[in-house]
Amino acid sequence: MTTNIVIPERLAAALRYASFDGENECGAWALLSKSQISCDPWSRKPREKLILRHLRPLGPHDIDSASPVHLTVRTAAFMHVLKEAAQQDLMPGFLHGHPSGYDGFSDTDDQNERALLQAAKNRVGSTAHLVSLLCLPDGPIRARLWRGHNEVVSCPVTVSGKAVERFDHTPKSIDKTLDRQSRVFGETFNQVLRSLRVLVVGAGGTGSPLTIMLARAGVKHLVTIDPDTIEDTNLHRLHGVGAPAIGAAKSLALAGHIRSLGLGTHIVGVHGNIIDPQHRDLLKSADIVFCATDDHAGRMLLNRFAYFYDTPVIDLGLAISKDGPRRVRDMTGRVSLLYPGAPCLLCRNIVDPRRAREEELKRRDPENYGRQVQEGYIIGGGDPEPAFIAMTTSVACMALEEFTQMLSGYRGDSGNVRQRLRRFQIPEDRISGGNPNPDCPLCAQSDDWGVGDTTPFLDRVA
Ligand SMILES: [Zn+2]
Ligand SMILES: [Zn+2]
Repeated sequence: MTTNIVIPERLAAALRYASFDGENECGAWALLSKSQISCDPWSRKPREKLILRHLRPLGPHDIDSASPVHLTVRTAAFMHVLKEAAQQDLMPGFLHGHPSGYDGFSDTDDQNERALLQAAKNRVGSTAHLVSLLCLPDGPIRARLWRGHNEVVSCPVTVSGKAVERFDHTPKSIDKTLDRQSRVFGETFNQVLRSLRVLVVGAGGTGSPLTIMLARAGVKHLVTIDPDTIEDTNLHRLHGVGAPAIGAAKSLALAGHIRSLGLGTHIVGVHGNIIDPQHRDLLKSADIVFCATDDHAGRMLLNRFAYFYDTPVIDLGLAISKDGPRRVRDMTGRVSLLYPGAPCLLCRNIVDPRRAREEELKRRDPENYGRQVQEGYIIGGGDPEPAFIAMTTSVACMALEEFTQMLSGYRGDSGNVRQRLRRFQIPEDRISGGNPNPDCPLCAQSDDWGVGDTTPFLDRVA
């Protein structure tokens, strides 16, 4: 089983600080939460993610001996970490830095970590594992998982938040077809796109151009999910499909189109609703999620997911209101970035819990929903929302631009925004951040950030 390590970007500075302090090697104890994936959508195999949750920097009593080229810790000092891990169902780990820049685990590291693994097995039993993280002065983070004394595997590392970085040892082959793109953002950008797992929720007016652009830009692992089928009234704004596809599932038709491009994209199309429990592995397998759905129930789920699993969600929206048959009062495209540290969609007043509940009712109990509409408890139905391809496609481009900034930092360190609004009728672009509502249990308090698997999922009572 493969294991991926997620380092929340908000902990990256603390991680570096603990790894480098003076000329001798130093480090920290680490505690990681778990995200078990029973079936990865691409490999169809189980996989797990471990999310860094706490760092406990080493004190003098934790260190047996240290020099610029070695560090040995006291196994006895590890006991309180194992206790904390057991209490919170976390995975214990050990982090250290190599100020020398040596890019690899040394023999001392092996001995040290074997002793820690033995301590864990003595306490917890033979199933105990140990995560080892290694920080290098020029940026890369290496990780490996000890399962047994002679069973150790290296793990890809994703730094995840308002910026995304990826460190792994997979062979880097240069894709010459992406040459022009690497001339803008550098070859690393292409490599990161190649290694990331991306989920796009929604294959409609914004989701279809976005998914096609992600594939063209070099994302190799994509999932598209949508519960709808193609209607003749969709063709004016869908990308990649035509009249022969009317009646087909939007996601499957889109996936088929992307395969036909011959770009080597491993795309999985899922005809379904992301809210259904059988699709949780799609969420948990993703390194980044785009939310291109216009329903509130799906947004509510993705909103919580971003915080619980430390996985960035990029939410897309287009709202059009009219003053008359031809006059537009407001036409606003929106891209909002969700990650621990940024306000959630509830605090930004973007998602409406009442409408989410109504949508849930419509999906689960259409009869009861119909009755409530008739009795006037729910303002259901209504006219379809207005839409035009220029604006839906533009919002997809805005989302891809923000994703590009997260990966490449092309606008500089201060170039990450939490929300972009494009007001088409002015025309004008605006940046807005907003603040968490101080009472919000999701985004104003960090208790649930990166907590990983919980029962029930996302601590939601369905
Ligand atoms: Zn070392
Ligand atoms: Zn909030």
